[in-house]
Amino acid sequence: ASAVNDNLRIARTARLWPIEEIAHRLGVPGEAVEPYGRGIAKLDLSAIGAQVGQPRGRYVVVSAITPTPLGEGKTTTAIGLTQGLQRLGHRASVALRQPSMGPTLGIKGGAAGGGHSQVVPMERINLHLTGDLHAVAAAHNLLAAMVDNHLHHRLEPQLDPQQIRWQRAIDINDRALRHIVLGLGEPVDGVPRQGSFEITAASEVMAILALADSLADLRQRLGRIVIGYDRDGQAVTAEQIHAAGAMAALLKEALKPNLLQTLEHAPALIHAGPFGNIAHGNSSIVADRIGLHGSDFLITEAGFGADMGAERFFNIKCRVSGLTPDAAVLVATVRALKYHSGRHRVVPGKPLPDSLLAENPQQVQEGGTNLLKQIDNIRAHGITPVVAINAFPSDHPSEHSAIIDLAAAVGVKAVVSSHVRDGGDGALALAEAVAESAAAGADFQYLYPDELPLEAKIARIATRLYGADDVAFSTTARRQLEHYQQQGYGHFPVCIAKSHLSLSADPTRLGAPEGWTLPVREVRLSAGAGFVYALCGDIRTLPGLGADPAAAHIDIDEHGEISGLF
Ligand code: ADP
Ligand code: MG
Repeated sequence: ASAVNDNLRIARTARLWPIEEIAHRLGVPGEAVEPYGRGIAKLDLSAIGAQVGQPRGRYVVVSAITPTPLGEGKTTTAIGLTQGLQRLGHRASVALRQPSMGPTLGIKGGAAGGGHSQVVPMERINLHLTGDLHAVAAAHNLLAAMVDNHLHHRLEPQLDPQQIRWQRAIDINDRALRHIVLGLGEPVDGVPRQGSFEITAASEVMAILALADSLADLRQRLGRIVIGYDRDGQAVTAEQIHAAGAMAALLKEALKPNLLQTLEHAPALIHAGPFGNIAHGNSSIVADRIGLHGSDFLITEAGFGADMGAERFFNIKCRVSGLTPDAAVLVATVRALKYHSGRHRVVPGKPLPDSLLAENPQQVQEGGTNLLKQIDNIRAHGITPVVAINAFPSDHPSEHSAIIDLAAAVGVKAVVSSHVRDGGDGALALAEAVAESAAAGADFQYLYPDELPLEAKIARIATRLYGADDVAFSTTARRQLEHYQQQGYGHFPVCIAKSHLSLSADPTRLGAPEGWTLPVREVRLSAGAGFVYALCGDIRTLPGLGADPAAAHIDIDEHGEISGLF
């Protein structure tokens, strides 16, 4: 609780620089800066054109070991590293996803870093910011309304009501909306059918916003969304029902990256927030472009563990943008590696057990199998990562040494970073190691070529990155893959939706599980975003709230000070 109070006190006492000054640091001309309240601006995409003469900086992705219930600190480390690079005299900026309000009000609290490595103003980041999530939901739900209207008026091409693939979206964890019945009432009230909601972050529109590189590209991608099938089994797109133009118009402002600042006034681009399981879990390409051309280093976070977020960063985001990364950071903590030893149970909301906090380098080493596998996963893309040991007050030096030794044994540098306690000053060693790694250059490569069939792409990721022996495709999944391949989507990259809590598909298997098979139940198409995604196990696209949701602890006082967002 005292850490939470510290976070809050630090965030509240932060002195913001005028956002125009931060934009100036990025080399963005004044005309492209659109202020949205104190310390916040949107950057018009004309900034990208204006920066074209500026050389591109180094592109650094921050990823982590497999997540545990303890939190590993990718966001805080990305922010701390940016501040550390800045302290070393480099121009550095950070690009992060905008958090969905579902998790913010559900389980997690805020997602803007912690301690002296935060992006501010944090209440704005966590709640609404500049309304991009609402715009995504509006565009998504406009398409949903036009789909049902299309059915109601029996417009051409005639949709098969049993094969509608477009659901509704909301940015709140609301399990009661997972399965709904639409169109009840009189004939004038629409065509009765079953439907569902997904969280806005899971919307294909969000994935499109993150991957589009211009307004024209956004418009075209929206048009390619497959909303369902006609009675002959032919795909029907958003373009065919004339929805894509209005959707793009609704997203005009949302496509402009949001500029904020870290506590040490480094530029922070907070833009787009696609889900990390059924989508690629990375912030936007347009924000990265602006940050890259306006800085010596652009640091971006990829969601979940390296097998998921970094894999999609490399194989989906970089493939779409054509940008190549120069360095990668893998975040690990002592407590999370001990947890990966499989010797601890943690109950959410309860204090951590003493046994987890007691000095035990042996357990760090046992759980280190996960770290080694994730190092190998980054290396599979031609990049040797730097391991960032995100230091907690409960760590012991012998435990840090255990991580350093594990990494050194495979030729990887691991650096202790105390950026949460000390801000950029705590991340100097990490910043030096990352700058050195980026300067040495990488030999970046995708994990698979475009031409590899979809089925083989899934198998490549499962066996090479997850450590599976094999993949078991259901009959449905095989049929779908064959269909997408025939329809001309075979060149798409793939996104695998599995548990983020394990390298395997079983969230209870910690460390680096061996001797298992990845079960693929179903494969879906995101034709607009430009990937297919495979569902392994139960993946929910609309979370629910727990018995004691974060929202129950959020309040606001008479001065407008919000509490409970950490
Ligand atoms: P991720 O991006 O990996 O989900 P975050 O950086 O958001 O992780 O951190 C998760 C939570 O843990 C946040 O509440 C953050 O403030 C806290 N946290 C992260 N690193 C530290 C640290 N070194 N000391 C204390 N708290 C930390
Ligand atoms: Mg994060």
